[in-house]
Amino acid sequence: MVAVIFVVQQAKPPSGPDLEKFATIATTSAVVIVGTALAIQVRRETQRNPWAIHVSYIIAGTFTLPVGLLVLLMLGPALQGVLGPRPDTHRWVFNTACTTLAGLACRAAAGWDVPQWDAASLIISGAVLLVVRAILVAIGLRLRSPLGGADEVLGDPIDVVLGIVAVSIGAMMAISAKDVALYALLAGPPMALLERAGQIPQWRRSAQRDAKTGLANALHWDRMARDELVRARTRKLPTALLLLDLDHFKRVNDEVGHLAGDAVLAAVAVMLRASVRRADLVGRFGGEEFVVLLPDASPEVATSVAQRVRISVASLRVPATASDGRACELSGLTVSIGVATSERYGYDLATLLVASDSALLAAKGAGRNLVTMA
Ligand code: GH3
Ligand code: MG
Ligand code: MG
Repeated sequence: MVAVIFVVQQAKPPSGPDLEKFATIATTSAVVIVGTALAIQVRRETQRNPWAIHVSYIIAGTFTLPVGLLVLLMLGPALQGVLGPRPDTHRWVFNTACTTLAGLACRAAAGWDVPQWDAASLIISGAVLLVVRAILVAIGLRLRSPLGGADEVLGDPIDVVLGIVAVSIGAMMAISAKDVALYALLAGPPMALLERAGQIPQWRRSAQRDAKTGLANALHWDRMARDELVRARTRKLPTALLLLDLDHFKRVNDEVGHLAGDAVLAAVAVMLRASVRRADLVGRFGGEEFVVLLPDASPEVATSVAQRVRISVASLRVPATASDGRACELSGLTVSIGVATSERYGYDLATLLVASDSALLAAKGAGRNLVTMA
């Protein structure tokens, strides 16, 4: 806010053509932002921050407008607070502040009074805008959830592509608006498409991940496991498959409720991920069944991993809310695990699954809380 007031006070009064450019860039962007917000509301999708659109019009404004008007343009993210169904004041102020500071840094890189209008300046100022904004957002996310994972703070790799596309659209908008302000309208449709593309990470996550546990869902795991087995066969790497099924899980649901059961599934998923290497493929196979493919693991290693997982499940203490609303801690959980190895069953996924399933049945038959080798 302080920066905005300071810059607006210092600025010279804008000329007519400047006002025309400002009006077209602001209108085009506002129509896209309001239009997509309405479409999201009608389709009952999750409201998002259209940051890529902000990047586009700030780049356009950086290269075509005097600083005073550029700063007004940077209040665009504030629109979000008006459009959101549940305005979150903190996030709104934070987003607007991040965009404004990143925008000012971008203008400084391009040339404060008269922006340098060439390829190198465009690349540098685009990079400054994206990097400063990403750093500020990462700091904000870190402050909000200090224990959040790195991927949550850094975002999805496709965000880098979206950022570059946003800068390109902004540059095209600036070039179009330079001579005839109205030509900036041409950037509207690509901006709307960019806004939709911003949903790709979310779509991909929900297509690949299981919502309750965050693990790969059965379909995605199946695809990854097949690819991994092809690679393992080519390189002749010993590979093992673990099929896990929680013991007497129905009792958890019956005694403390399904929500507590879900908390157990989530805790087992976190423990599983932490118990194996990054390259191991963990998935939710079905209800309370999990699968782990261990590439480059001998039968001995696979058995010891399975035993480690079995012991970890037995020592889990899961805080949960029982069906009567009281807080409880679930412990004494056990798991049965069937192990099948490529050494004995080869690299065909279906064959390995059948073998590990019959080993799992044997573990259940022998009393549960056991690891059995196929
Ligand atoms: P066993 O030791 O023989 O495996 O006994 P079990 O009770 O675990 O086996 P069964 O297959 O009969 O029951 C699995 C239970 O898992 C039934 C179902 O209520 C529960 N379940 C499956 N998916 C979910 C889920 O997403 N959430 C919760 N809370 N429970 C689930
Ligand atoms: Mg089961
Ligand atoms: Mg079970």
